[in-house]
Amino acid sequence: MFNIVIFGKPGSGKGTQANFLKEKYSLYHISTGDLFRKNISNETKLGIQAKSYLDKGDLVPDSVTIKMLENEVLSNKKVKGYIFDGFPRTLAQAESLETFLSSIKLKINATIALDVDENELITRLIDRGKTTNRTDDQDLEKIKNRFNEYNNKTSILINFYDKQGKFHLVDGKGSVDDITLRLFNLVESLI
Ligand code: AMP
Repeated sequence: MFNIVIFGKPGSGKGTQANFLKEKYSLYHISTGDLFRKNISNETKLGIQAKSYLDKGDLVPDSVTIKMLENEVLSNKKVKGYIFDGFPRTLAQAESLETFLSSIKLKINATIALDVDENELITRLIDRGKTTNRTDDQDLEKIKNRFNEYNNKTSILINFYDKQGKFHLVDGKGSVDDITLRLFNLVESLI
């Protein structure tokens, strides 16, 4: 099993690149953002709980997010590995992920962060907001709030994974193909 966390600010290309990594290494892709959006459009109880947070660009509370993630892993156990996209986003999530994975004899092998500066991300997100119905991409204040959430709650995970020798920063600027190549080269050096 090879389990990857893909990590980065909103708009850094996590979802796009997770799809390429998933195909290449036969991983099971879990995007907590996609799971929330699916629950919101299906108007499930979880979706109703999560909606107001996504609408504002706030993080959904840990208890809700962790449970959803664990259920998704437990429902998809016969896989070659997981790619966690957008999870963990807080220290509590990272710690609970470790405990949970070790309870099923798994671990995170690598955490890969896509590095892109905020000005470039704003341009990308506003562009994405024009072609999707993601309201959190259509409003500069919401975008800035998502950066704040990242800077205040998520960026500390760099140190958490770095101390374990599992943190890898990849340049997230340039063409999609160039970034994919950088990621494949990195993963080849790790497996
Ligand atoms: P994303 O698609 O990864 O940009 O996530 C969209 C939104 O879903 C975020 O702004 C949060 O509101 C919520 N979300 C996704 N993943 C998490 C997480 N790990 N913890 C808390 N909230 C999350």
